[in-house]
Order: sequence, then C-alpha cells, then structure tokens
Amino acid sequence: MKRCERCQKNRQLRFFTGPRGRICTTCQRKARSDATHRRRVGKTYGLEAGEYDALFKAQGGACAICGGTRKQRLSVDHCHKSGVVRGLLCRLCNSRLLTAARDSPDVLRRAAAYLEAPPAVDVLGPRYASEEANNSRQRKRKR
Ligand SMILES: [Zn+2]
Ligand SMILES: [Zn+2]
Repeated sequence: MKRCERCQKNRQLRFFTGPRGRICTTCQRKARSDATHRRRVGKTYGLEAGEYDALFKAQGGACAICGGTRKQRLSVDHCHKSGVVRGLLCRLCNSRLLTAARDSPDVLRRAAAYLEAPPAVDVLGPRYASEEANNSRQRKRKR
C-alpha cells in the first residue's frame, strides 16, 4: 500500500505508475481530464484559469436552470447571437430545453404558464392519457 499525495488515500501499488509515482492513477486521470477541459473552455469560451470553477461554485455546483447536480461536467452555455457566455447548464437544459424554446424567455414563460394552467383541463375538464401513453413517456425519460 502507498499513500497518494493528491487524494491522501492509501491505495494498492498497482494504482501507481512505477515505484516513484506519488499520485495514484485515478488522480492522474482526473488531473489530465481537468487540464484538457481547462484548455478547451479557454479556447472555446475565453474562460481564464479558475473561471469555470468560480462560476460552478457561484451556481452552487448545479445547473443554473434545473438545479440538477450530476457527476458529468456542466456545459458552458452561450448566446448564439452575441456569443456572450451565460452560465453553466446540464446537457439536457443546454441542448434540449433551450433549443426547444429557441432561447426565448417568452416561450419559457408561456411553457410555465401552460403547465400550471393546462388549457385542455379548462376547456374539457380532466381527460386522462392511456396507460400506454404514460409508459412510453417514462421509458423515454429514463434514458
Ligand atoms: Zn489519488
Ligand atoms: Zn439542467
């Protein structure tokens, strides 16, 4: 066993590259992946070192829209017209929600109002989807 200088965990020798390895391979992989990510958000979005992390922290480590926290990194969302960086979003909010709403605050406000007061319930009274329709929706959600 040997102690990793990064995560401070005692790990088996097979987690270290050679007898002089000071950082476990898990930490090595993470450091490499962090460095790649830093370069990418720097090049693509002009974020300087530490700015992604500062934003992530300011957002409480969660997607700025749904509040979801996942292991996956949050995407840097930007306005497609002006190019300005808006914040960090999960992939679902960034690529599905905003795309479907055409980046329009009005569409999203109407979507919220729609869900809170569905017109069909108003006009027809409650009607219920078949079991089948419900199941296929759930199956899609799980993916
Ligand atoms: Zn480690
Ligand atoms: Zn989200």
